[in-house]
Amino acid sequence: MIQSRNVDAHEIAKFERIAQQWWDPSGTMRTLQTINPLRISFISTHAQIQGARIADIGCGGGILAEALARAGAKVVGIDQSVQAIEVARHHAAGQGLAIDYRLQTVEELAQTEGGTFDYFTCMELLEHVPDPGAIVAASACLLKPKGLAFFATINRTVKAWFYTVIGGEYILRLLPRGSHSYARLIRPTELQTWAKTSGFEFVCSTSLMYNLWTQRFWLKPGTEDVNYMMCFTKKAGA
Ligand code: SAH
Repeated sequence: MIQSRNVDAHEIAKFERIAQQWWDPSGTMRTLQTINPLRISFISTHAQIQGARIADIGCGGGILAEALARAGAKVVGIDQSVQAIEVARHHAAGQGLAIDYRLQTVEELAQTEGGTFDYFTCMELLEHVPDPGAIVAASACLLKPKGLAFFATINRTVKAWFYTVIGGEYILRLLPRGSHSYARLIRPTELQTWAKTSGFEFVCSTSLMYNLWTQRFWLKPGTEDVNYMMCFTKKAGA
């Protein structure tokens, strides 16, 4: 059963407050801009982006959606932050990119356009919603058979908490303060269980690694360390 409202108003309010920073190269969302080429590289290893129909869930100001559109995808970006959608629309127009941005939940999109997407991206969203398993289930509904889903989230371990919250938010200021709570972080086994229950097969995972001294990010395939991505395929007939 797909819930119609799986939104935490408190979380959305946090994103409304930082909406003007989505594209600021020195603002609090700059880390998402920095890691974006690595995310696109992970996606394009498994997916043929050119010409694909992609749903980007929790698109924010459109950092990932724009990169997908530039690579030739037809993108629908949805978010629950009014201001993020406004910023995303405005920025895409300035770049000459035609992206279909909507103020919707994934559950709502799945009800009207289920089975019509080749791929689904959901990056750094699961740890901000009350019922992440429902997002995974709705994502399966959105996809065509054999479609791919890409998730990125943060592991619920002491190390991940330390790196992301203490290191990332408070010491290095790579992320907005107060953006993550420990209880909402997600273990890889939890994501895999929700995906399996929703009719997905696991394809692969990778971690986003960070070197404090060089201030560089890179991918470590086959691991789920702190900030990790997972790719699943929707089973034919699921
Ligand atoms: N995916 C983007 C932004 C991640 S930040 C990126 O990685 O670059 C998380 C985004 O999810 C915010 O823009 C927030 O407003 C949005 N969000 C939170 N709950 C949501 C929900 N239930 N449905 C859709 N978007 C949501």
